[in-house]
Amino acid sequence: MWIQSIYESHTRHISSSITLTETRARKYAPAMAMYPIRTFPDPVLSMEASVVSAFDDDLSRLVDDMLETMYEAPGVGLAAPQIGVLKRVFVADTGEGPFVMINPRIIETSGSWKFEEGCLSVPERYWQIKRADYTRAEGVGLDGLPVMFEGDELTGRVLQHEIDHLNGTLLLAHLGTRVRKQVLRELREESLGTNRVL
Ligand SMILES: [Zn+2]
Repeated sequence: MWIQSIYESHTRHISSSITLTETRARKYAPAMAMYPIRTFPDPVLSMEASVVSAFDDDLSRLVDDMLETMYEAPGVGLAAPQIGVLKRVFVADTGEGPFVMINPRIIETSGSWKFEEGCLSVPERYWQIKRADYTRAEGVGLDGLPVMFEGDELTGRVLQHEIDHLNGTLLLAHLGTRVRKQVLRELREESLGTNRVL
């Protein structure tokens, strides 16, 4: 999940670099529901999500709810484990309209790009994180048919970030060892609260 400031500052120059083979119209039906977003150290964020095999109404409802939750946050991407659902599904919108990937896998990456990155599951913290620049991912859509998404800069980063979530990996894993240890200590202390009674 990416926050608005990153989204706003980078949609300008990603639009020419992304290729979307599927878009999904944004829908606002009354039946849609928002989920609370799980935050570190919720154990669900460290678990590997399961392959989706049923392409049914429940899956469509999940995707609609994830889109609603993502736009409300607001974010550029949302993976199912972030709302406590351990299925290999993510939604994203990098400025070219919403898209969904089910059972995605990264087929190809190239280059590298360092950029300030955040995650709504680790709220209000950002780090300069180096990742591959260009990324191509394949998966299936809501109908179970193959889809492919590719792009560099923000799109490439969103694909990597969301697929990481499906493998139980948070952006913290991409920090250097010393910084990561310090951050983990701070986050654990924050999650315990400042008014502990021992
Ligand atoms: Zn995230």
